[in-house]
Amino acid sequence: MAYRPVKALIHLNALQQNLRQVKTFAPDSKVLAIIKSNGYGHGIERVAGQLTQADGYGVACIDEAIVLRQKGFLHPIVLLEGLFSEAELSIAIQHRLEFAVHSFLQLEWLKNSAIKTPLNIWLKLDTGMHRLGFQVHEIQNVIAELKALPAPVNIHLMSHFASADESEAFTQKQLSIFNQVAGNLKCPRSIANSAGVQRYPESHLDWVRPGIMLYGACATSETVPGLKPVMTLMSQIISLKWIEAGETVGYGQTWQASRRSLIAVVAIGYGDGYPRHAPSGTPVLIHGERMPLVGRVSMDMITVDVTDLAEKVTIGDEAILWGQGLPVDVIADACGTIGYELLCGVTQRVPRVEE
Ligand code: PLP
Repeated sequence: MAYRPVKALIHLNALQQNLRQVKTFAPDSKVLAIIKSNGYGHGIERVAGQLTQADGYGVACIDEAIVLRQKGFLHPIVLLEGLFSEAELSIAIQHRLEFAVHSFLQLEWLKNSAIKTPLNIWLKLDTGMHRLGFQVHEIQNVIAELKALPAPVNIHLMSHFASADESEAFTQKQLSIFNQVAGNLKCPRSIANSAGVQRYPESHLDWVRPGIMLYGACATSETVPGLKPVMTLMSQIISLKWIEAGETVGYGQTWQASRRSLIAVVAIGYGDGYPRHAPSGTPVLIHGERMPLVGRVSMDMITVDVTDLAEKVTIGDEAILWGQGLPVDVIADACGTIGYELLCGVTQRVPRVEE
């Protein structure tokens, strides 16, 4: 039982609808649903349970994968960053996990093991992101080493776009490098994230790897028709008070009333994952209207100027911070961040309530 009025409503149908939307974009590709970071903050088991029509799940680490296996999910699960230590190899095999191989150290771990169980490896090629992955000139040797392992190795070739949501030229360059390498290999290929799914059909290949679009948020600046927000973060007004023109609100007195103003206190703050750096003016949805946040975000509260709603607003009224009616990307833009960070940042004390 949660006594504080903050909750993150999770719209389960929206997850399924967004997956259908992925399949509309990429009808000929398999879908690796990216559900790392606790399902982008929505709850990894819950998300996996709604996305059973996906062909597999992508997670960041073995702990996330084990949670899924323990809950009985039998889908292929891919560790997108591969193993973090040699000791994880036997655990990965025990749980039938597939994993990225992106470094010579990881390759060494495989060579050190005498494992003969077939391995499903997502070989990561660096096509320009310069984060994880082998360089183009290294890849043939790495493949030869993988093929020489005592275990039969089934290779997928993967890479990751650096700016599919921003730069067409760079994305095409990455794709062309990827295709050149993949052309010689004849193995399943995967490079498209959500922005790739939405913008570059030629990048869909054998597996797409959508994350953010499954949660109804945008990887690109365009809104994507057919996507529905999965999380609505909401709370209530717990106090209302009039202040005079010239008075200030909150820590640091960063906002000053230019007129007599009605200030609503909403029970949510950075302790819940609402971004502390949200500036005055960031919209909060009350009675279906976007009302401006004023003053600094506190740990457990924010203050909102509801003067224009004075006729109808009362204590106990609902306030939506993002979600249905107020896309998380609008809040992210106001805060100079991305929807991903806001969704993943909702803290544990916020109950996720399914609907
Ligand atoms: N593939 C990999 C390897 C990733 O790391 C991520 C997310 O960071 C994704 C796919 C999904 O990206 P997006 O959420 O932009 O669709």
